[in-house]
Amino acid sequence: MHTISTEKFLLWKEKQIMKGGDSKSLSLLIDSLGGLSKKDLNLLRIKSEKNIQLETNLEILETFWDKHLKFSIPIQHLSGITYWRDLKLEVSNKVLIPRPETELIIEIVSEKFKRKGEKITFVDLGAGSGAISIALALANPNWDGLATDIDKDALDIASRNFSNNSNQSNLKFYIGNWWDPIEEFKGYIDLAIANPPYIPQNAYEELPIEVKNFEPKNALLGGEDGMDHIKEIVKYAPYYLKEKGWLLIENHFDQGARVKQLFLENRFTNVEVLNDFCGIGRFTIGRHK
Ligand code: GLN
Repeated sequence: MHTISTEKFLLWKEKQIMKGGDSKSLSLLIDSLGGLSKKDLNLLRIKSEKNIQLETNLEILETFWDKHLKFSIPIQHLSGITYWRDLKLEVSNKVLIPRPETELIIEIVSEKFKRKGEKITFVDLGAGSGAISIALALANPNWDGLATDIDKDALDIASRNFSNNSNQSNLKFYIGNWWDPIEEFKGYIDLAIANPPYIPQNAYEELPIEVKNFEPKNALLGGEDGMDHIKEIVKYAPYYLKEKGWLLIENHFDQGARVKQLFLENRFTNVEVLNDFCGIGRFTIGRHK
């Protein structure tokens, strides 16, 4: 632990922000490498503590901040971790850094299943860091979860994230493309969720360097119109879902109507496009007949 005067620390923080970047990223760095959370930082303003404790010294933190500013490396890659809902997750350039808008999936699912209290089998297709499947498995210890991913390194990260966040055993990991690795569960799935790559080609080219140069292309790019993977997932969903089973897909800001149409063409019912925090039709949900 490094003891630093609060005054010195706050001055240092101000100096960093003057160099560039945004305060959210700086707070994430201070939290993930310095061990001082956003909440602790806010408390500093009201409590007049003389000193603070940091897990690393200011010089090291500054080196990381400078790297972030100079090369646009995401803070989450420099620290190797991110926070998502109440989870602390390992991330690397092998997985998409889970986004805040995706957090809403957990609320949507609990809303749909809240009265039921039943034991269900769910799958997270293209689980990446495991954020969605881990949050669902932890919130519902009586559910059985399956998480698939085509990338072995991603699946290893997801599996480590699960064991680091719990001692439950209700989530299993399967390597392969979308539904392929869970053939044996055909007709048994109550709920399938996917946050597939959905960025259209031209939008992909325009992504910020921080995303485009560092996050996996195969977790972002969804072909010419961004819909390639969504189409594949929806097409095969009826073989895997139980009758009345749910499918929930996250989509790009302008794909809601098209994904809804796709659900309807594949004989889904109760199809809705739900908004994210910004009022964007971000999640399409429907029932298999
Ligand atoms: N929402 C992510 C982004 O804008 C994209 C995630 C995805 O393609 N599934 O960077």
